Amino acid sequence: AKSRGRSFYPRYHQAMNERRRDLVRLQSDLYRALECEQFSVVYQPKVCLQSGNIVGAEALLRWQHEEHGAVSPAEFIPLAESSGLIESIGEWVLASASSQSRAWHEEGLPPFLVSVNLSGRQLQMGSLVERVRFVLDNTGLDPEQLELEVTETFLMQDISQSLILLEEIKALGVRLAIDDFGTGYSSLNYLHRLPIDTLKIDRSFIVDLERSSETYDLVRNVIHMSHDLGLRVVAEGVETQVQLDMLRELACDEIQGYYFSPPVSPEAFRRLLAQQRVF
Ligand code: C2E
Ligand code: CA
Ligand code: CA
Ligand code: CA
Repeated sequence: AKSRGRSFYPRYHQAMNERRRDLVRLQSDLYRALECEQFSVVYQPKVCLQSGNIVGAEALLRWQHEEHGAVSPAEFIPLAESSGLIESIGEWVLASASSQSRAWHEEGLPPFLVSVNLSGRQLQMGSLVERVRFVLDNTGLDPEQLELEVTETFLMQDISQSLILLEEIKALGVRLAIDDFGTGYSSLNYLHRLPIDTLKIDRSFIVDLERSSETYDLVRNVIHMSHDLGLRVVAEGVETQVQLDMLRELACDEIQGYYFSPPVSPEAFRRLLAQQRVF
């Protein structure tokens, strides 16, 4: 079947080979990107639906490649994971976002929570807890001002193992969010066992909110149940006023999405935060 496929789809295979070559090249470029300072962190505001204030920001990694320009994290994060590089890149993001946030707090800007993504691979390193503690000590960021986002898919792989790890991370005093909620095969039933503070509803549900009454009901149930468990709920990928109104109606706590702001440079985020300064 393989050789038949090859002769029937030569273009496809040629494209595949080119793509594979590109990926190998991109992976070796990743090794140099850290030293060459091609990475940066952008910040996407999270807005409280009750007050309308920015109450948090998700730190998102950006890579400016010397030839290709901006490379999407959706493309290079998996490469960084398979090569093991995500451990040092992830720690760099954590340190960068933590020291930046600390500086903003010092400046007297309104309080906000900074959220940093942890990849499954980082969660599997034995030294994660020590590394997070190291970064907190070094940057002087108050642990309560840091939230770590962990995907639902990772947590679901081994709930009892995840529970042990999350308890250890929680003991540092940081907050924990479950990311991309709804994309894995989970029921809400196990949530009460996990020491999490925040649940982020995946963008795919927000997209369907207006069109599908089933999705609407599902999101309502997720929000109600989360609140019963004392969790804050963040809706991801909010792009329209209609979505915002529906989420407010459902008592969702916070929104994140292009409707309010895309991820922006540190300078631009600082300006947004400073605008709501209360004297
Ligand atoms: P994520 O953690 O689910 O992050 C949210 C993604 O949704 C971001 O994409 C953000 O730019 C995008 N987004 C936000 N609002 C909207 C919206 O209204 N509409 C649409 N269509 N998209 C929106 P981004 O920055 O390209 O990151 C993609 C993924 O790459 C992230 O998904 C996360 O899984 C991963 N990633 C990014 N930075 C890091 C990092 O520092 N560490 C790790 N481990 N993963 C990261
Ligand atoms: Ca995230
Ligand atoms: Ca997400
Ligand atoms: Ca996602």
